[in-house]
Amino acid sequence: MHIVDLRSDTLTQPTEAMRRAMAEAEVGDDVFGEDPTVRRLEEMAADRTGKEAALFVSSGTMANLVSELTHCRRGDEMILGDQAHIFYYEQGGSAAVGGIHPRILPNLPDGRLDPDAIEAAVRPDDVHFPITRLIVLENTHNRCGGAPLDAAYMGDVGKVAQKHGLKIHVDGARIFNAAIALGVEAKQLLTDADSVSFCLSKGLCAPVGSLVCGSKDFIDGARRNRKLLGGGMRQAGVLAAAGIVALTEMVDRLVEDHANARKLAEGLAGMAELRIDPLGVRTNILYFELDIPSLDAPAFTQRLAGEGVRMLPTGPRQIRAVAHHPLTSADMDAALDAFRRVLAG
Ligand SMILES: *Cc1c(COP(=O)(O)O)cnc(C)c1O
Repeated sequence: MHIVDLRSDTLTQPTEAMRRAMAEAEVGDDVFGEDPTVRRLEEMAADRTGKEAALFVSSGTMANLVSELTHCRRGDEMILGDQAHIFYYEQGGSAAVGGIHPRILPNLPDGRLDPDAIEAAVRPDDVHFPITRLIVLENTHNRCGGAPLDAAYMGDVGKVAQKHGLKIHVDGARIFNAAIALGVEAKQLLTDADSVSFCLSKGLCAPVGSLVCGSKDFIDGARRNRKLLGGGMRQAGVLAAAGIVALTEMVDRLVEDHANARKLAEGLAGMAELRIDPLGVRTNILYFELDIPSLDAPAFTQRLAGEGVRMLPTGPRQIRAVAHHPLTSADMDAALDAFRRVLAG
C-alpha cells in the first residue's frame, strides 16, 4: 500500500543531490574551526538571515538552548508564549540546564504575543524580581497552525525590546516557510532579532542539523555553549554538505508544500464531521477538530492509518497534518479519499 505520511515534515529524506554532496564533502575538524564545508554553510546561513555569523548545531532544540544560554545568565527571565515549542517540547531545557526563568504569556491564535502584554511583563528594577533579559518569538508558529509572523509585527516587538534593553530570539525552525508565505526574504523578518535558529531537517529535507545566527560576538559565545553541551562535532562537513544543498535547492520549493496543505485543508473543510478554516492555513501545517462523538483523535488516526494515511493526534479531538517533500497534489487527493472511506465507516 502507498502510504501518505503527513505526521511531520521531519520525515523528509535527503535528496539524491544531498547524498552526492555528503559523499564528496571536503571535511576537517570543526572544533578546530577547520571544516571548510561547515564554514561555508555557516557563511550561507548568516547571509540568508542577514546576520554577521552563524553556528551549525545538531538540532533545533540545541539551537534554541545554545541561544538562550548565550543571551541569559542563571536567574534571568525570558518572555515566551504558552504555545511556544521552547515551552512545550524542549523539556524545559532553559530552566533545567540554564536556570532561566520562563515568563509565559498567552499566544494569540495567529502565533503572536501582544506587544503591550510583552511590555507589561517586563520587570521593573526591584530587588524582588528576576531581571528580564529575553523575548522569544516563534516563526512560523507550530502549535498556532503554522502561522507566519510578518515584518511589521516583528518591528512592533523590536520597539518594545529596544525601549527596555531586551534581546529577541526567534525560534525560526520554519523561518523559510514564513518568508515564502509572506513573499519576502527571511532576513527581512529578522532585522529586529538578535538571534535566530532554523532547521535544515524539516521542509528543507536535510538529514540532520540546525543553525544559530547572530552577531559575531553572540556566535562566539554560542560556540562556547555548544561545546559545553557536548555539541562540538568533528568532521561535520558530511552533514553540512546536505545543509548547503538544502539552502540552495530546497527553499523555493516550500511553496509546493503550502499549496498541498491548503488543498488538503479545503478538502477537509468540505467534510461535515471535521472543523477547519482553510483560510487559516498559511504554510505547510494544518490542524483540524473532529466532530464525531464516538471517535476520538487517536482512534480516528488509527483507522486512517489502516487506509494508508498517517497523521498526528495532538489532542482528544485535534489532529495535525504537515505537507512536505516529496508528497504531491495527487497524494492530497489520495488522503482525502482515505478520509471519505473512514468517515463512511
Ligand atoms: C522542530 C522544532 C524545533 C526543534 O527542532 P529539533 O531539531 O526537533 O530539535 C524547535 N522549534 C520549532 C518551532 C520546531 O518546529
